[in-house]
Amino acid sequence: MNRILIAEDEERIASFVEKGLRANGFNTTVASDGDTALDYASTGAFDLVVLDIGLPGRDGFTVLRALRETRVTVPVIVLTARDSVRDTVAGLEGGADDWMTKPFRFEELLARVRLRLRTAARAPEVTVLRCGDDLSLDLRTRRARAGTALVDLSAREFVLLELFLRHPGQVLSREQILSHVWGYDFDPGSNIVDVYVRALRKKLGAHRVETVRGMGYRLPHPT
Ligand code: CA
Repeated sequence: MNRILIAEDEERIASFVEKGLRANGFNTTVASDGDTALDYASTGAFDLVVLDIGLPGRDGFTVLRALRETRVTVPVIVLTARDSVRDTVAGLEGGADDWMTKPFRFEELLARVRLRLRTAARAPEVTVLRCGDDLSLDLRTRRARAGTALVDLSAREFVLLELFLRHPGQVLSREQILSHVWGYDFDPGSNIVDVYVRALRKKLGAHRVETVRGMGYRLPHPT
């Protein structure tokens, strides 16, 4: 299992990233200041670091420089505020593997995390997710198969179905779905999850996604 260090002092963002990564099978640790981040990242115990630039104590630039100076090669994805992108890019000096501007959607971060880990490990990747014999999702073509029908999905529908397929039989709350598919910037009172579940049902068949009253939605296990 991959271990990811999240160096982020804003609690809301740290927990948003942590929950999402855990739901996707990663082990996570949060460091909320630069010195702790550097200590943890230097241990060699992590496969990837998500590093905020605006950290108390040492900022992200200093942490990154210190890591690279001591030949710590762990992949680093930098998080930065949109209005300081130019400074960030200049400040990275090739030390970061990737960077993202805040606010960001979780699916975007997840894609980059996976990409960096894959590049680092050259591990064989799962390209088709399945539930039973008659529902599958090809992660490369982004097409689903339901029974004998091939189904094209919108970007959000794809992420939503991927989430369900990675957690078959498990009840996912609206909040979990919202934060995974839409990100922490989305209004929690929104009914967008219901709208998209309806859209998935229309494309895949109404029985594919169950409503669990008062709790959320579930992809039923095949019997
Ligand atoms: Ca910060």
